Amino acid sequence: MSIKANIAKINEIVAGYQAELIAVSKTKPVELLLEAYELGVRDFGENKVQELVEKEQQLPNDIRWHMIGHLQRNKVKYVAPFVYLIHGVDSLKLLKEIDKQGQKVGRKIRCLLQIHIAEEETKFGFSPDEVSQLLNDPAFLEMKNIEIKGLMGMATFTEDTNQIRKEFRGLKELFDLLSVQHAEKDNVAMNILSMGMSGDYQIALEEGSNMVRVGSSIFGARSY
Ligand SMILES: *Cc1c(COP(=O)(O)O)cnc(C)c1O
Repeated sequence: MSIKANIAKINEIVAGYQAELIAVSKTKPVELLLEAYELGVRDFGENKVQELVEKEQQLPNDIRWHMIGHLQRNKVKYVAPFVYLIHGVDSLKLLKEIDKQGQKVGRKIRCLLQIHIAEEETKFGFSPDEVSQLLNDPAFLEMKNIEIKGLMGMATFTEDTNQIRKEFRGLKELFDLLSVQHAEKDNVAMNILSMGMSGDYQIALEEGSNMVRVGSSIFGARSY
């Protein structure tokens, strides 16, 4: 199928849940991003800072750039001037750095807190206890140049759809709970639940996702 047909199909499904589609364009050449752009896509996700910065310089200004990968603290400064949403915030230290760089460039940088929901040890993210601790930390309350927009999670890479569903359901419950508990905080405005990728976005949508990050089902398999 063509990129056009892929986007049309996924957009139709996503629209049925009033969710948003982030086109994950990592490893893909700017020509392909431009093709998607011309089809109306404005939200692109990348997982490497250097690639994100290079593509941002070459592509139109009205693109919303999503940093979806693990972000190292020493690289925050490169994306701070333009990044639309950082999906993978997984420590207080990283959040402090984002706040600092946000202050330097005079922006309030939107962030999602990444929650560890998968069985795999290797995936980054907070536990539910850790995320509550962070949101109640006095240092967090002082951060004026970040805004917590919601949560992000990645399910276990498995064929077991019940397992995947269970993990997404747990994340939705945590999202609902934290949205209420922290609604009064100045730097919290939780309305984004980023979950679902090519292999599992339909399940994610059924379980309450309102933002899916889809790469290979749009652009084809990645070759590294
Ligand atoms: C690569 C990536 C995706 C998209 O993966 P696909 O399976 O190609 O859809 C989504 N989220 C994150 C964090 C990724 O790194």
